[in-house]
Amino acid sequence: MTDNRNDDMDFREVTDDVNVDITDDAGKDTSDKASVTENTDHENGGSDGEKSEYEDVCFVCRRPESKAGKMFHLPNNICVCDDCMHKTMDAVSQFDYQNMLGNPSLLNELNKNTKGFPNFGFLNMDDLKNGGFNFGGGIPNSQKIKKKSEDKVKPAFDIKNIPSPHKIKAKLDEYVIGQDKAKKVMSVAVYNHYKRVATDTMDEIEIEKSNILLLGPTGSGKTYLVKTLARLLDVPLAITDATSLTEAGYIGDDIESVVSKLLAASGNDVEKTEHGIIFIDEIDKIAKKKNTTSRDVSGESVQQGMLKLLEGANVEVPVGAGSKNAMVPLTTVNTRNILFICGGAFPDLEQIITQRLNKQTSIGFDADLKDKYEDDPNLLTNVTIDDLKKFGMIPEFLGRLPIICTLTALTKDMLIKILKEPKNAILKQYQKLLALDEVELLFDDSALEVIAEKAMEKDTGARALRAIIEEFMLDIMYEIPKDDNIGRVTITRDYIEGKASPLIEIRGEGEKPRLPQFNTEQATNV
Ligand code: ADP
Repeated sequence: MTDNRNDDMDFREVTDDVNVDITDDAGKDTSDKASVTENTDHENGGSDGEKSEYEDVCFVCRRPESKAGKMFHLPNNICVCDDCMHKTMDAVSQFDYQNMLGNPSLLNELNKNTKGFPNFGFLNMDDLKNGGFNFGGGIPNSQKIKKKSEDKVKPAFDIKNIPSPHKIKAKLDEYVIGQDKAKKVMSVAVYNHYKRVATDTMDEIEIEKSNILLLGPTGSGKTYLVKTLARLLDVPLAITDATSLTEAGYIGDDIESVVSKLLAASGNDVEKTEHGIIFIDEIDKIAKKKNTTSRDVSGESVQQGMLKLLEGANVEVPVGAGSKNAMVPLTTVNTRNILFICGGAFPDLEQIITQRLNKQTSIGFDADLKDKYEDDPNLLTNVTIDDLKKFGMIPEFLGRLPIICTLTALTKDMLIKILKEPKNAILKQYQKLLALDEVELLFDDSALEVIAEKAMEKDTGARALRAIIEEFMLDIMYEIPKDDNIGRVTITRDYIEGKASPLIEIRGEGEKPRLPQFNTEQATNV
């Protein structure tokens, strides 16, 4: 008997912090914490009395509310769908508690100490809170999808509100230097794409999707152009890299992961995602491998796998995670209205183009022009579909990227302009920084030329500019704040070439004093 009591004591201890209880039919004992209700209050991420913008996700099967139907809300923001709840209940009702049901003496003993059926629980809900079991209290919002707006889905862009191509280009001009052809092509393509999205049904004539293939040397502004465009249009943008993609089932990222990145970029809002832009960089890295006998899982297969995405398909993507697994909910995204822009430098393509052009000119009197194309920095502008096929892109893939657009290599003049003209030009950024210290920063034109020349040598396009400027601005940014009297600094050619120091002018008598050194606002701005 004493033993039994001890057992009972242990049993009571276990049941003390049980939240979910299984009560018998009499059900008189409902523990104070126990409740399975609908629409109880929740903290973060739950449906908080007032409506949450995220869908509830079943804690057991991970299906969102839109798929699994209405949810039961348990404490700690845990939702369970109808199916799972029923399955759980069925399992529980069939469970013979360690032969307890067939052992009346044990049941009697337990009933003496508990009112009715023992306070028995399988799951300690407190453990499910953050910091307990690593399941998280309910499911975090980052893994949930936003509810579809209840009123009728209206197009993201009203056709009247889509800026016309010339306006898109004019805006792009403010940020992107040169690349006029590319900007024009992109503006028209984007305009047409969103016009198509906005009107949706085009009676008998269905307008084809205008996915874009951007070619251009590294640092010529491919990514920058797309980023600027997405910002101007206020659409979500996902920038991904084709190098990590592999055929499904192999180590690497699944092709569909590009869509889940876009879903994340649009805050898990499926509607927004379906009108977004996906930029896939380094697309040349998924060219068909030559002379290979093994399966080309990161080349041709990836191109094959991308076909349906580019054209438009329903894809199941994980919400809040890069890859599908049992713990993350899935949602369906239709890629029909997603604009795909693929970009790449296509380094060996130039050889293919040269060969083709040379073949054409090696006949007859033009034969002496053999080297004509060798040093042409803009050889890529002559690209044809055949060249790309030869490079290793499959025809079906190219067929789904109807707009091919080439960016030119940046010239010295363009680099100088990039330094000073765009709205967020690097020089403007430094001038602003020093202006906060009330110091004027000037650059000699000859200095800019040297910087551009140095950048040209590095052969990484505009990317080299920042590295070069950072290098020589370091001393200036370090030394200038030391002396309050400095009013103007001029960067000269000699300074950049390491022959002299920059020109420093001391502030005149009547000039404005500097801001206090430790102005907090100033510090945070910097
Ligand atoms: P890539 O062509 O390799 O994708 P990026 O677009 O990443 O090159 O360019 C790198 C950086 O160079 C950009 O962040 C941008 O600041 C600058 N840049 C490149 N091209 C231009 C351009 N045409 N106009 C203005 N800035 C440019």
